Amino acid sequence: MGGIVYLVGAGPGDPELITVKGLSTLRKAEVVIYDRLIDKKILSNVRGDALLIYAGKNIGEAEKQETITSLIIKHAKEGKIVVRLKGGDPYVFGRGEEECERVINEGIPCEVIPGVTSAIAGPTYAGIPITGRQYSPAVSIISATRKGDEVIEPDYIPSKGTLVILMGIHKFTQLRGVLLKVRSANEPVAVIENATLESQRVFICSLNDMDKVISQNNVKSPAVIVVGDVVKMRDKLWKLS
Ligand code: SAH
Repeated sequence: MGGIVYLVGAGPGDPELITVKGLSTLRKAEVVIYDRLIDKKILSNVRGDALLIYAGKNIGEAEKQETITSLIIKHAKEGKIVVRLKGGDPYVFGRGEEECERVINEGIPCEVIPGVTSAIAGPTYAGIPITGRQYSPAVSIISATRKGDEVIEPDYIPSKGTLVILMGIHKFTQLRGVLLKVRSANEPVAVIENATLESQRVFICSLNDMDKVISQNNVKSPAVIVVGDVVKMRDKLWKLS
């Protein structure tokens, strides 16, 4: 029998935030190839005889991406049910589209199971809705860096609405500079580290102070940065969440 590949979104961190469908697919997997940001507790759901492969990768490691894709294809060609388990949602800055395209080009079926993205769940767990009738009718999800690891250009930063920025920590000083070309220095900012996990930390500041806050508190990746008036809602909502 031919193999099949499932790209499964594992959710933002808390192992309970995987979807029911994601979990049932993970349970039937014969091979699981998982990312760095996957909580090990999720992996306790796999079959005892399943092959578990760690495919943690850092930004910009193109060769590693190629190795991962080749591994997925190799196991699927051996007729296996392969689950490629990815943090958050596979199609939100997850390179899921590259993997899916390659798998399909090999004539192997590929199904994508969405996940709860850190871009939305991160702010929610910090008490910040990414939209709000009074505050913002629009939200942009932005990668702080682009292929090649350059900082995002200011043209991608809208002048209004909520900004949710991923992968923003390792170049936070340059990122702040780009944001300040478009947004005002006193805009509220939330920096949410390890969102949805017990180790979650949240820092509220202005855009002007963002770099100080990140460096003084030694904020590490993964973290989501939210810019915009919606951050103000936290004062009213946090006590209830
Ligand atoms: N596909 C993922 C995003 C992959 S890009 C998703 O949908 O969530 C990796 C970036 O996601 C990190 O640099 C960070 O900005 C963000 N991220 C992922 N998990 C996170 C977490 N638990 N807390 C904060 N940010 C997280």
